[in-house]
Amino acid sequence: MFVPELERLNQKQIKAFQEIELKKLLHYLNTNSKFYQEHFEKHQIDLSKIECLEDLTKIPVTTKDDLQNQNFDFVCVPKHQIIDYVTTSGTLGEPVVFAMTENDLERLAYNEFISFACASGDSNDLYQLMVTMDRRFMAGLAYYSGIRKLGAGVVRVGPGNPGLQFDTIQRIKPNAIVTVPSFIVKLIEYAEKNGIDYQNLGIQKAICIGESLRNADFTLNTLGQKIKDKWDIALYSTYASTEMGTAFTECSAGKGGHHHPEMIIVEFLDDNDQAVEPDQAGEVTITTLGVEAMPLLRFKTGDICYHYTDPCVCGRTTMRLGPVIGRKKQMIKFKGTTLYPPAFYDILNGIENVENYIVEVSTNTIGTDEITIYIGTKSPSEWFEKQIKDFFRTKLRVAPNIIFESISEINKRQFPELSRKPITFIDRRV
Ligand SMILES: [Zn+2]
Repeated sequence: MFVPELERLNQKQIKAFQEIELKKLLHYLNTNSKFYQEHFEKHQIDLSKIECLEDLTKIPVTTKDDLQNQNFDFVCVPKHQIIDYVTTSGTLGEPVVFAMTENDLERLAYNEFISFACASGDSNDLYQLMVTMDRRFMAGLAYYSGIRKLGAGVVRVGPGNPGLQFDTIQRIKPNAIVTVPSFIVKLIEYAEKNGIDYQNLGIQKAICIGESLRNADFTLNTLGQKIKDKWDIALYSTYASTEMGTAFTECSAGKGGHHHPEMIIVEFLDDNDQAVEPDQAGEVTITTLGVEAMPLLRFKTGDICYHYTDPCVCGRTTMRLGPVIGRKKQMIKFKGTTLYPPAFYDILNGIENVENYIVEVSTNTIGTDEITIYIGTKSPSEWFEKQIKDFFRTKLRVAPNIIFESISEINKRQFPELSRKPITFIDRRV
């Protein structure tokens, strides 16, 4: 298994490495980025005073709004150097365009190479890609080039279409799949319905993207357990985003996504943009390293995570990122409790006969958050509604409104035309 040398050094050495890279980045931004030139000037930042990682707090953060409002002011290179354009998924607001140079594409390939290696990958593996390479999506392309760099094999099937997925597994015999975990549940259902002996087709592992597989204590969540109960393959969680251009991927220990310090500086901030205590959850805030076209400095991702700094059994000494508890903007204050949508998903994923769902939050007449869950099921009944509410009361001590709809209606609402991934949360709060 390949581990970059940097990822075995002690924390002090890693920090020293990042501080050298940070100084290079600040100089680069000040020379090439319209947005950051103005940002430094507006906030009267003396870059010579930024010596160590702790000094980063002297520079105000970059937000999603900044990226949306001044998208092309972030581009640091002339147009002729840009090779590839992608967009963010736009789950929260308008999508943002990201441009990449040849070096950025190479960096992205390296990032996925070390990430797949972290997830026990090597040149003997053959991966079936169950995600799109198109639709302005960065990740599909990144996986493909990372797997190439690893020297492993790859077969590009794309998302959906369980029939074609199994036909490929039977014909080409990959030993690994790359997919969103909820699609594995669909694959199992399809195989069971069609008499496919899916457990004995040679698939050994799944690199899972887009959805959490674990609870905060690293035990499998309902979705992870649902897969594992039926299909005993190794599951590797990975967390990434277009803005970061970097992945945090689990090793076989399954104790959080490993930080690759040559790619990115990570801070965990509270509501006032101050570092949280080491044992507290904070907003993942990133500074990209080695990015040429659109580097970001102290970008607040909106994702809330815990982090862990004790060394891992795999030999890496780098920080590990816990599962995303939720998105900051999606925080719900409900009857005195603070909740994030993933807590609802985890319960819904475990209820039999709940085929699909959308969680909607709105503002009620007294100005507080109101939660309604639209559930697609073949068997709506008052009894079932009560049963679902009881599940919520037991686990979260609150019960949302439940509205049953047809499975196809929910499916239609989950996949509006421009969406690349299913919409499971709608925020109608004012
Ligand atoms: Zn590890």
